[in-house]
Amino acid sequence: MKLDSYWLDTAPPLVSACEGPVEGQADVVVIGGGFTGLSAAQALGKRGASVTVLDAGRIGGGASGRNGGQVNTGVAQDFVALVAQLGVERASACYRAFSDAVDTVERLIREENIDCNYSATGKLKLASKPHHLAHLEKTAELIRREVDTDIELIGRERIRSEIQSDSFYGGLLQRHGGQMHMGKFTVGLADAAVRRGAKLYENAAVTAIAKDGAGFKVTTARGEVRAKQVLIATGPSRHGPFGWYRRRLAPVGSFIVVTEPLAPELLAQVFPNRRAYTTTRLMHNYFRVTPDSRLLFGGRARFTASERPSDAKSGRILQQGLAAMFPMLANARIDYCWGGLVDMTADRLPHAGQHDGIYFSLGYSGHGTQMSTHMGQVMADVMDGHEERNPWRESEWPAIPGHTGKPWFLPLVGTYYRIKDIFY
Ligand SMILES: Cc1cc2nc3c(=O)[nH]c(=O)nc-3n(C[C@H](O)[C@H](O)[C@H](O)COP(=O)(O)OP(=O)(O)OC[C@H]3O[C@@H](n4cnc5c(N)ncnc54)[C@H](O)[C@@H]3O)c2cc1C
Repeated sequence: MKLDSYWLDTAPPLVSACEGPVEGQADVVVIGGGFTGLSAAQALGKRGASVTVLDAGRIGGGASGRNGGQVNTGVAQDFVALVAQLGVERASACYRAFSDAVDTVERLIREENIDCNYSATGKLKLASKPHHLAHLEKTAELIRREVDTDIELIGRERIRSEIQSDSFYGGLLQRHGGQMHMGKFTVGLADAAVRRGAKLYENAAVTAIAKDGAGFKVTTARGEVRAKQVLIATGPSRHGPFGWYRRRLAPVGSFIVVTEPLAPELLAQVFPNRRAYTTTRLMHNYFRVTPDSRLLFGGRARFTASERPSDAKSGRILQQGLAAMFPMLANARIDYCWGGLVDMTADRLPHAGQHDGIYFSLGYSGHGTQMSTHMGQVMADVMDGHEERNPWRESEWPAIPGHTGKPWFLPLVGTYYRIKDIFY
């Protein structure tokens, strides 16, 4: 079993990153080479800006290359709860922003000719308990009435035509969106940014940002670069001069296992429509079939950071969950196991704008393959003076109470969720 991301392991190599020191002057320095940063670099380059992208490690080596492979519409949290929290107008605007984000991913794949096995399968949210289905029914009614008619509630009597498992009582199908190979998309987007003139640097961790005349001086492990504008696209970075952001983000670990390739007849029986699947539990699971017929199965497993040796422990918990849900796959060999950090915010909504003259887009809360790509494009507009294009411009972003930058509270939250799941 490899303790590595399947997406990164099976992606083509990135050959377009720069060698040599980080130096000189750029219109924009983008910190972080995930989907937010690469998409921003592509869009900024397209409008003629010179862009330098700096990543602490491998381009796409953060959440963008380590996720569940789903590109879903809809908000990260329950839509009924979001309406109660924000009102129907604002909640619907949030929902629409995610639909726009799916469109952005599809447009970029088309425009930049990115070969990444995109498949518009929709997402099926599976009810893990009978009363969860009742809630999904209420959610479906509200979504259909307010914001999206391209959805379908699948009752208990039909759920077996979607998935062969005794664990589910029905589901909510949201047709917009789908799934793709995240490693191939990363490399395709990075190459597109380079074609638009961006310079990409790996292993260039940013250690300081200082004001420099009307712009900024950005110091990295590989040298210094000056820029008129800076965009922070680091996800839940645990190093570098990002304390203000760290106090607003909880870096929550999420873990994934991938099986050996499975027989096509077995897959056709268990997952006939090969959708992107999630479950309704608080400690929920997400899964899908990969382009080469493996089952990718993820979940929170444990409230802990992702570290290589302990990822295997999370992997064993996931393997048990997979076997309980799909007994016919219990003996499938696990070929990959890895973890990543989700940049969770208190309201589970993204936050983007400007702080101390520096632009940022962060906090996708585990629902960000589409939104990070979209926000890269949006931030290029915002940095060009079009603040009104930012769908998150009106949200306040206070620090998480008691959060000093180190997420000491995560094990407590994990225990709380596990207990709550029993009664939920
Ligand atoms: C296990 C897992 C499963 C997920 N599943 C899904 C899913 O199925 N669907 C979905 O929509 N979303 C999912 N997500 C969320 C989604 O992957 C992210 O929201 C999205 O990829 C965020 O992209 P990003 O570019 O903002 O951040 P990242 O991809 O994390 O990129 C940030 C980059 O910044 C770099 N960086 C950090 N600090 C510094 C520094 N000091 N200097 C320079 N560079 C730095 C990092 O090295 C990293 O490469 C998942 C996340 C995880 C972890």
